[in-house]
Amino acid sequence: MLENDTIKPMLLPYQELDENVWRKDICAGCRACIAVCLADTLAFDPKLNRPSQIAPCVDCGACLDACPRLPANIKNIVSSEIIGPHLEIKNVRSKTSSERFQNGGAVTALLSAALDEDLVDCALVMGLDRWAQKPQPRVVHDAKDLEKCAGSVYTSNAVLEAIKDIIKDPETKNIALVGTPCTVQAVGLLRRSSNEYALKVANKIRFLIGLFCFEAFDDSLAEEISGRLGVQPWRINKMIAANGMLSVSLRDGSIKTIPLSELAGCVKPGCRACADFTAKQADISVGSIGSAPGMSTVIVRSDEGMGLFKIAEEGGFIEVWDGVRTDAIEKAGNLKLKRNGF
Ligand SMILES: Cc1cc2nc3c(=O)[nH]c(=O)nc-3n(C[C@H](O)[C@H](O)[C@H](O)COP(=O)(O)OP(=O)(O)OC[C@H]3O[C@@H](n4cnc5c(N)ncnc54)[C@H](O)[C@@H]3O)c2cc1C
Ligand code: SF4
Ligand code: SF4
Ligand code: SF4
Repeated sequence: MLENDTIKPMLLPYQELDENVWRKDICAGCRACIAVCLADTLAFDPKLNRPSQIAPCVDCGACLDACPRLPANIKNIVSSEIIGPHLEIKNVRSKTSSERFQNGGAVTALLSAALDEDLVDCALVMGLDRWAQKPQPRVVHDAKDLEKCAGSVYTSNAVLEAIKDIIKDPETKNIALVGTPCTVQAVGLLRRSSNEYALKVANKIRFLIGLFCFEAFDDSLAEEISGRLGVQPWRINKMIAANGMLSVSLRDGSIKTIPLSELAGCVKPGCRACADFTAKQADISVGSIGSAPGMSTVIVRSDEGMGLFKIAEEGGFIEVWDGVRTDAIEKAGNLKLKRNGF
């Protein structure tokens, strides 16, 4: 060997994440690496907007199989397709109504069908501490509690962190999980992995419901909004991001708007490296774009997704129509790809 030759030391898996994802500011914050880590090596650092190492690593490699932003995995995820594989695309509305639904309440209705029909033991969704407007992943066992967690939480993609406790419970065999496209990508990777710890998580997820997502915001959003509007966070009833504006409904019934461009400083850094708008690896994807107000756009992708969709339709949980404007979905998805440099 020549004297000047250097051999790069082998990196431990979390060091590979550090080198290739965290330090490059492309971490999606999906917490899949934390969810699969049997040694509790990793914890999410809200200040850094990414995980960091807090305990010794046992080199099991599960986190590398899970990470949707690792170069080896991302190359199989990024594509110019916006809508992706599907069996059906429909306008959907829940047969029940609630002011908490973000759009047509399709996600809540599909999850209600899954729980009512005993297809899953629980649903893992994103709740909100409505006093502080802070996100809280929630495990829901009863369809009645689902409505409390309806609506979009634009400040978190952290549902997977909560799966760690669920998988320890031998009584919980099947979960329905809702997540943004980055979460869905991570679960897609876990489903294809042969790592035993990755599969422990993946095998519990019977239905994977993805939400369309243009971008998400960090924890500073609630403070930013309440400062701009001069209201306490608890006065906020609902937020809707659409057509370049964030509409904020207050408890007194008034609606205030803020251009999304003015909130660019609150967008999570990792969202700028995101190439999926419609959660292409979900069993069912749901968004608002493409449907009329008060309806949800539903893309059914897998046989499992179709089974749940049919059970919800035939069981009277949802109403279904044709006529989704797929051109509008394509346009928004292409805008995201272009904005993020793909
Ligand atoms: C960050 C973000 C960005 C989005 N951007 C777009 C967009 O650009 N265009 C578009 O058409 N649609 C977007 N959506 C999806 C849209 O806002 C609705 O969530 C979707 O249409 C479902 O509405 P619904 O009435 O059927 O759902 P609901 O019946 O209201 O139920 C929503 C379900 O999703 C769960 N949930 C909410 N937020 C999260 C979250 N962060 N992570 C995991 N689960 C969650 C809730 O707990 C609830 O179970 C976005 C959603 C999020 C969270
Ligand atoms: S998942 Fe395995 S390899 Fe990754 S940090 Fe945890 S113990 Fe280490
Ligand atoms: S993208 Fe997700 S899996 Fe990858 S390092 Fe970030 S939090 Fe972990
Ligand atoms: S844009 Fe949405 S899907 Fe992409 S990283 Fe951000 S939260 Fe995840």
